[in-house]
Amino acid sequence: MESARDKHTGEIVDAEQLWIINPVDPLGYECRGCGAQATPCSYRPENKVRPYFSAKNGHNSGCDVEGAVELVKRARKQPVSTFESFPGSFPNRLVLRDTRPVAGSNGTPTAATSAGEWRTGSDSSGEARRDRHWAAQTIRPICRTFLNFPYDRDLPLAVPGIAADTYLRVFRSLKSDQIVQYPEPRLFYAPISWKASIADDDQMEIELSYGEWKERKLIRPYRVRMDWKDWSSAKRNYVSREIETARSEYITAKKRGDKEKGWLFFIGKQDEIDPTLFHIDDHRLVCCVVAEMIYPPWPAKH
Ligand SMILES: [Zn+2]
Repeated sequence: MESARDKHTGEIVDAEQLWIINPVDPLGYECRGCGAQATPCSYRPENKVRPYFSAKNGHNSGCDVEGAVELVKRARKQPVSTFESFPGSFPNRLVLRDTRPVAGSNGTPTAATSAGEWRTGSDSSGEARRDRHWAAQTIRPICRTFLNFPYDRDLPLAVPGIAADTYLRVFRSLKSDQIVQYPEPRLFYAPISWKASIADDDQMEIELSYGEWKERKLIRPYRVRMDWKDWSSAKRNYVSREIETARSEYITAKKRGDKEKGWLFFIGKQDEIDPTLFHIDDHRLVCCVVAEMIYPPWPAKH
């Protein structure tokens, strides 16, 4: 599983967050679909594959997380939502908290936005804790949903600072062949260039494969800069590991002959003087996913 619920706080934790949570409580997580014990795996520095959660004793009956693999297979070919209903669960908002909430309150996350709030589970009873629509704490689960459900991008999504309310409108691909000044903040994405990223004490810079071309050469690529002077080493490691892990996943996919690319997703501020450059000041606002990007023919439905 790529995410699980923290039993102490009630929040849904993305497996990659295990890179930064210290110490990890091996018994502290449960399946967000059925409440079965979810064991954190592969989060230690020596582990080469991404962290994940494993329901070692199986799921309880009717768990939609267990059924998600089949659903995604179907969703990559056709719409899976029906009028006002979606057969799985998905993050419908990004909530960035400054610190992790303290365990032992009522266990219910308090922050919620009004937009797209369709929550149906019961939080406090301890039963039926099925969050069909949940709060993501980093952009990663949102980006995965965007990739996994290409025909269902009218699902609601609320992201602080972005004036749009569906997946389709919140996400924006950078122009592949032009440098553009973007008038409004969006969750931008473009293929990563696998050139070694440049990092020093103040910043880390990642080059993308879109930008201005001349004679079939990319002469002015878009770039994404993490201004990380004030970040802890744990946060720096989180981002460096994210990129390095994606790079090895890409190499593996290429060996298999897959069409997958490395997609860098980010929420950043475009530089006012140099529009090729975006600044990111929070490690939760960048992720790299190796996947095939599907654009359905318009209109996606009917
Ligand atoms: Zn489950």
